[in-house]
Amino acid sequence: MAIEKCQSCNKPFRVWEHNLPMPGTKEKEPITCPYCNHTIERTSNGWWNTAALSEQEQQDYLSGKLTDFH
Ligand SMILES: [Zn+2]
Repeated sequence: MAIEKCQSCNKPFRVWEHNLPMPGTKEKEPITCPYCNHTIERTSNGWWNTAALSEQEQQDYLSGKLTDFH
């Protein structure tokens, strides 16, 4: 799981990949911002899930305390 920053509203959100058990089918799949619905595309074997951060997590991210989820 990773933190992505929206290119439109500049808010951080969680992104994680849902992999399908089919190798070699890399296609461009949408990553949609949970705040403003701005969508970018990135190659994936399945699809991308996104989720908003809590207010506290957003503040931690912006202050550098929260950089990544594992
Ligand atoms: Zn956004």
